[in-house]
Amino acid sequence: MQHITRPLPSITQDNEDFWRSTREHAARLQRCNACEKFWYYPGPVCHNCGARNWTWTLLSGVGTIYSYSVLERAKGNPYEEDVPITIVLVRLAEGPVVMSNLFDYEPGELAIDAEVMIDYEDVNDEVTLIVFRPARR
Ligand SMILES: [Zn+2]
Repeated sequence: MQHITRPLPSITQDNEDFWRSTREHAARLQRCNACEKFWYYPGPVCHNCGARNWTWTLLSGVGTIYSYSVLERAKGNPYEEDVPITIVLVRLAEGPVVMSNLFDYEPGELAIDAEVMIDYEDVNDEVTLIVFRPARR
């Protein structure tokens, strides 16, 4: 997998359980105990109904590309040497849309509604990022 030098998230009280789950390669998101919807980014309040209780719930790991862009030039940026970088918005099967990178794809696999699956990029001891690759049958 291509490694990209990028800014990393700050781990906070609100998101530490999320980052723990990605380190375990078992991504979880908060699922509301009241309306049963998932939300992303992690936080103390349901994005749908405002309830304040939830259960960290394992994701299926599948989603579809909602939108994408390919960064061809990054002159002056820390990731200048990493281009092209494929940036995707993925609608997870559970509902939330997350932004990350798509790796290891063939021409034609970068398309709206294409099925993708979660993979993990271990960046350092604290941060493992969710990334995506095509879901091939
Ligand atoms: Zn809710």
